[in-house]
Amino acid sequence: MSMGRLLTFVALAVSLAACGAKNDAPIADTVLTNGRIYTVESDTPWVSAAAIKDSVYIALGDDDAMQKHIGKNTQVIDLNGRMAMPGINDAHSHPFSGAIKELYECSFPFSAAPDEIVAKLRDCVAANPTSAWITGGQWDSDFFKNHDIASPRSLLDSVSGDKAVFFADDSGHNGWANSKALALAGITKKTPDPANGKIGRDLKTGEPNGILLEDAVTLLEAVIPERTPAEYVQAARQVVSIANALGITGMKDANAKPPAMAALNILDKAGELSMYMAAAISTPYGHRDVALDYATLEAARTQYASPHVLTDFVKIFMDGVPTASRTAAMLAPYTPDAHGHAGDGVLHVPQEQLSADLIELDRRGFTVKIHTAGDRSVRVALNAIAAAREANGNSGLRHELAHAGYVDDVDMKRFVTLNAVADVSPVIWHPSPIITSVINAVGQPRGEHYWPIRQFLDDGTEVAAGSDWPSAVTSPTPWTGIEAFVTRRDPDGKTPGALWPEQAITLEEAIRIYTLNGARALKLEHKTGSVKVGKSADLIVLDRNLFDVPIDAVGDAKVLTTFFAGNIVYQAKP
Ligand SMILES: [Zn+2]
Repeated sequence: MSMGRLLTFVALAVSLAACGAKNDAPIADTVLTNGRIYTVESDTPWVSAAAIKDSVYIALGDDDAMQKHIGKNTQVIDLNGRMAMPGINDAHSHPFSGAIKELYECSFPFSAAPDEIVAKLRDCVAANPTSAWITGGQWDSDFFKNHDIASPRSLLDSVSGDKAVFFADDSGHNGWANSKALALAGITKKTPDPANGKIGRDLKTGEPNGILLEDAVTLLEAVIPERTPAEYVQAARQVVSIANALGITGMKDANAKPPAMAALNILDKAGELSMYMAAAISTPYGHRDVALDYATLEAARTQYASPHVLTDFVKIFMDGVPTASRTAAMLAPYTPDAHGHAGDGVLHVPQEQLSADLIELDRRGFTVKIHTAGDRSVRVALNAIAAAREANGNSGLRHELAHAGYVDDVDMKRFVTLNAVADVSPVIWHPSPIITSVINAVGQPRGEHYWPIRQFLDDGTEVAAGSDWPSAVTSPTPWTGIEAFVTRRDPDGKTPGALWPEQAITLEEAIRIYTLNGARALKLEHKTGSVKVGKSADLIVLDRNLFDVPIDAVGDAKVLTTFFAGNIVYQAKP
């Protein structure tokens, strides 16, 4: 090309650009260029650039196509070829339990041995001279199976001084208390076991030994002082900062209590809630054969709703957990425990009552998340959803069966016909100590047939996923769950083997579950969950392209930047 022709070409290019600037293309607040943006939209799965205005995407495409949206005040961010994708929506988490644990409680790892727990408790007692209570956890499900402890309460008493102590297990369903805590709760030799719980007892004397299963925990929790509103607000801030740093821009609190919702409202009003939080409003835990208090649920829905706090959700617990505690309601008996007890678990709410609740909640526009850890509670919950469909027609509300790791063959396809969601959580579809506890309790071969996720997807069942943090996991990170969806292996490499590897799914499917399906669980699929013109710019930039690295590197992915509604709300330190 001669110099003359080059100059003409440059002049033409400049005039075209000037012309472009004068056209009607809206000027963006932010333009992202030079990225590998995975959209989770099947017609255009990848784009390299995006323009954002007033918190939503106004254009997607390649870098050239974004030029016309760049004005003098537009912030242009070069993604340097990094992968970006929609923010994560965690459909099942207990964020306030997790944050309060980090901020205020006495924490030790799931793997802690008795002497480590005693040492930790001694430190916590010394560090909290004015507290009447020391709470925290979490001990491994098989802890008392693997460690022969003559008197669990005395072990805590040995270092607790005058403080009451209560430690939760890794499922969050069972607890361990010292003598002071039992005394404050009035739990004595004469206290009968609650309907759906068990007070562990010394086999010789019948005295409570400090172990409390399921409903027995409720007896004790009733006397633990509630955190202050200021502590809840601090916990809410902690939730947002943990979530945003992991790329989470939407979460469903799977058991939302009023002080938590109140704290979220305060943050939202202050402009600090840089994520969506759906609140599955808590209902009483344990045995219940009377109707829920619908008026109270309605009042909470109205009182605590705010732009980023979504309150059209309710949580109901149907059973416990299929670990050594053997409290999930199963269709066939568990293996016998050390004392020869087996049983088939406990169902908290009888079929007729659950059906009546579902009909009423569905009619009132609540999406219900039903905790169903065993295959018997799954069946009862599906029956209840069927009753709601029969009574109300298909309301379009996608009620969720939480955990749903064990599902009888005859119930698998009912999810599709009933428009029910399998909320698979926690992220333990891989070998781990808690899985060992479950398999031992449930017995083989049924025990290993846990988390039929491939089958759900092949059937056409909608799957949502959640961390269940702090149950079974120490953080709400989605990345290990995504990796294990594909590998069915322990992402940390600590426990060997693969759990029912035939149920593996693809990386694309795993990402969709954590983004768009999560948004559907929050009833926000029109607003977020994928990168699409008109949707909120809730986007994360990663340190690696998940599709280019070996699958076992996915679990270690780090979020570099998190955008919520077009604003940067987290930036990794270099
Ligand atoms: Zn949960």
